[in-house]
Amino acid sequence: MRAAYAMSLRDIPAVHRLLAEPRIAGFSPLVGPETVKDAIDAVIAEIRRSAADRSPAVPQFEAIVAAVCERLAVAERDGLLDVINGTGILLHTNLGRAPLAREATDAIGAIARGYSNLEFDLESGTRGSRYERIGGLLREVSGAEDALVVNNCAAAVLLVLDTFAKSREVVVARNQLIEIGGGFRLPDVLARSGATLVEVGTTNKVYLRDFEQALTPRTALLLRSHNSNFSIEGFVADVNPGELAALGRRVGIPVVEDLGSGALEDLADYGLPHERTVVDAVRDGVDLIAFSGDKLLGGPQAGIILGRAPLVARLRANPLLRALRVDKATLAALGATLRLYLEPGGAKRVPLYAMLGYSVEALRERAAQIQSRLSRQARHTRVIDSEAYVGGGALPLARLGSVALAIRPTSGDPNALAAAFRRERPPIVGRVEGDELLLDLRTIHPDQDAYVAEALARVIG
Ligand SMILES: *Cc1c(COP(=O)(O)O)cnc(C)c1O
Repeated sequence: MRAAYAMSLRDIPAVHRLLAEPRIAGFSPLVGPETVKDAIDAVIAEIRRSAADRSPAVPQFEAIVAAVCERLAVAERDGLLDVINGTGILLHTNLGRAPLAREATDAIGAIARGYSNLEFDLESGTRGSRYERIGGLLREVSGAEDALVVNNCAAAVLLVLDTFAKSREVVVARNQLIEIGGGFRLPDVLARSGATLVEVGTTNKVYLRDFEQALTPRTALLLRSHNSNFSIEGFVADVNPGELAALGRRVGIPVVEDLGSGALEDLADYGLPHERTVVDAVRDGVDLIAFSGDKLLGGPQAGIILGRAPLVARLRANPLLRALRVDKATLAALGATLRLYLEPGGAKRVPLYAMLGYSVEALRERAAQIQSRLSRQARHTRVIDSEAYVGGGALPLARLGSVALAIRPTSGDPNALAAAFRRERPPIVGRVEGDELLLDLRTIHPDQDAYVAEALARVIG
C-alpha cells in the first residue's frame, strides 16, 4: 500500500513540463505567468491531497492539463484582456481609450511596485502634496498658472461646479448643452451640483450679448463646453472663446471651459482639421480649463484642471477633492506622458500620435504583407482603402485615410465572422461594414500583424 502511494505521487508531472505544455503556456500572456504557475501549483496540491486521503492513482497527464486549463479559463474570464483593435477608432471608449506609451507603463511599474514620495516631502521629512510635481509638469506644457488632477474630466467638471456654482447660476450657450457617452449630460451634472442652468442663445446662433444679458448678481460662472460628438452646420454663429474670456474678466466672473479631449499637439500636423488645443484655451485667457487624460493627451484616465492660481487654490480646498483624487499609478503614467511632450519629437512616442502618423502607403504595405501570408484563404480577404476615426469625443466628423483587410464571410453573415474573431485569444475586434468585416490597420500595432495573419488563417481556414 505504502509503495503504491509513493509510486503514484511520483507520477505527478514536473511543474516545468506543465509550464511548457502549449495549451497551458498560451494562457501566460492573457493572465500572466504568476497566475499560470499558481494554477499548476493548485492542481498539483489537490492531487497530493486526494492521494494522501485515499491514495488513488494520479490522474493522467491529459486530465491534469485539462484541470489547469479549466482554472486558467476562469481566471481569464474574471480579468481584463488585451484586445486587438481593428475598428479603426483610435480612442475607443469601450476598448479603454488611449493606449499608454512605454514610458508611462514603465513609470507605473516602477512606482506601483514599491513605496514612493507620493505625499511626502523628502526635504523636510513631512507630509507633502500629491499634486505638486504633476502640477509643475502641467504648468510647463500648458503655460497655465496652476493645475490639479482628478479621476476623469467628468469629475473635474463636477469639482468646478461644486466649488463655485452651488446655489448660483451658470450660463451656458444652447448649442453646447451636450450629452456625451455614459450618461454625462451637462444639464444633469449642473442640476446635481446644485447650480441653476441659465441657457442662452438658440440652437444654431449664440452671440456674446446673449451672455451679457444673462448676467445677474447670482451668476457664478460662464461655461463653455466642447461639441464632442456633434456638429451644427449651416446658419450658425458662435461666441469666440477669447471674447467670452474678456467678458468674464470685465464683469469679474470666471469663464470655465470643458475642453473634453485636451490636445497638446496640433492635429493639423497629422492631416486632420485643427482642434482647439489646451494651449489655445490658456492663451485665450479662459480662467479654468478641464480635459481628459486619456483622450487626445494619450495618457491614463484622469481629469486635468488648469487655470488661474487663486481659482485652483479654491478647488484644492474643496473637501470633495478627497473623493475624486487619483492614485500613484495614474500620476506616474501621466507624468511620464507629459514629459514626452516636453522632448523634441517626443509626442511621436505617445501611441495615439504614432498611429495618427502612419502613412497610408505604410498601412497598405502592411496589409499586403498580411495578405501574402494567407495563401489559400486570401480569396476571401481584400486590401481596401478605409477611413479611421479619432473617437473619444474628439473631431466627430473628421475621417483619416486608412487601409483595412476586408473579409467577406463564406457564411454570408459578417456579424458571425466578427464574433469568431472576438473568440480568438487575444480577441480581435473589427468593424462590420455592409456584408464585410473590416480589420483597420491604423489601430493595429505593427507588432500584432503576424498574429492577425495567423488568426485570419485560423478563422477563415
Ligand atoms: C469626454 C468628455 C467628458 C468626460 O471625460 P471623462 O474623462 O471621460 O470623464 C466631459 N466633457 C467633454 C466635453 C468630453 O468630451
